[in-house]
Amino acid sequence: MSTQPFEPFQPAAAVPDLAPRDVDLAEDGHPIVPPIDAPDAAVMHHPAATPGEAPAITDDEAAGAPDPALAGRPMGPTARPMPVFPEPTPRDQHGPARVVSMCNQKGGVGKTTTTINLGAALAEYGRKVLLVDFDPQGSLSVGLGVNPYEIERSVYNLIMDRNTGFEDVVLKTNVPGMDLLPSNIDLSAAEVQLVTEVAREQVLQRALDAARADYDFIMIDCQPSLGLLTVNALTASDGVIVPLECEFFALRGVAMLVETIQKVQDRLNPGLEIDGLVATMFDQRTVHSREVLARLVEAFEDKVFHTAISRTVRFPETTVAGEPITTFASSSGGAYSYRQLAKEVLFRCPGT
Ligand code: ADP
Ligand code: MG
Repeated sequence: MSTQPFEPFQPAAAVPDLAPRDVDLAEDGHPIVPPIDAPDAAVMHHPAATPGEAPAITDDEAAGAPDPALAGRPMGPTARPMPVFPEPTPRDQHGPARVVSMCNQKGGVGKTTTTINLGAALAEYGRKVLLVDFDPQGSLSVGLGVNPYEIERSVYNLIMDRNTGFEDVVLKTNVPGMDLLPSNIDLSAAEVQLVTEVAREQVLQRALDAARADYDFIMIDCQPSLGLLTVNALTASDGVIVPLECEFFALRGVAMLVETIQKVQDRLNPGLEIDGLVATMFDQRTVHSREVLARLVEAFEDKVFHTAISRTVRFPETTVAGEPITTFASSSGGAYSYRQLAKEVLFRCPGT
């Protein structure tokens, strides 16, 4: 893969949150975070999707009884005792892949950062990982040191042009065991062109079919919208991970996202499950961060990952460097957190 320096790619500004600011303030001035409506249990614990074994949280614990395995464990950022996740065992063979979409229609919540760093951490644990840049802004490609304007064929060609194969598009990254399907602004045309296509929701799924056997994880970095590209990603996926900023307004869009996931489950992909919600840009020192997480756990219970990713300037720095934090600042807190998240994902998804 090219590691030539390139002009930093300027992503378009995130879609502004135009929701009315009807927040009540506590006496000390911090916003009071109201409870959010718990989503339909059928979506969160989808019948086709309930993993057969090893849930991170036991029924006893969900019912309020203390789990002896968690006795004496320190409190995690989500105000639940932090379980010890087993050290992942290496795999001697690879595939078939678990396909996971990183999805949230809000921009700037850490989807791309989580795709790169969770992917890199899984690769460190010996998993073969394919990252799919499915956002026309190309931030995932940029974050891995690829100039989106210089790529000859992108994921757009893979899904729209039958003469382009997987091998024509895939790039090796600097992380051993991690490959990339890059993307650029061409992909924005696909959103329009796909509308008239037969089986328009399944084009990505078909394009990834050939790759499933060779990887352990395929992670799709979605664009910040719930349009046809995102529906394609969800249709191609076994699981969804929702990165979510530790900020009150972050909670507002989740209901709409869960509704979209439910529609895809009902109409296109009955096996789709929510692997989890991961809090990003967490600041342990602020009441606000902790309250947002508490509300999230109230509504989504064990679907909230125990691992939260703290806010640190190291992440924007890694984008400039064009590499994951696990190699850029290998012993940093951010690298530790994404390794922890990788362990949690491997623990939650049996067979990975
Ligand atoms: P999305 O893909 O959801 O739009 P990004 O992953 O691109 O979000 O993150 C948006 C911005 O926030 C980027 O500049 C990124 O470097 C930064 N960022 C992501 N995670 C963190 C974090 N934990 N702490 C501080 N900055 C972060
Ligand atoms: Mg992004």
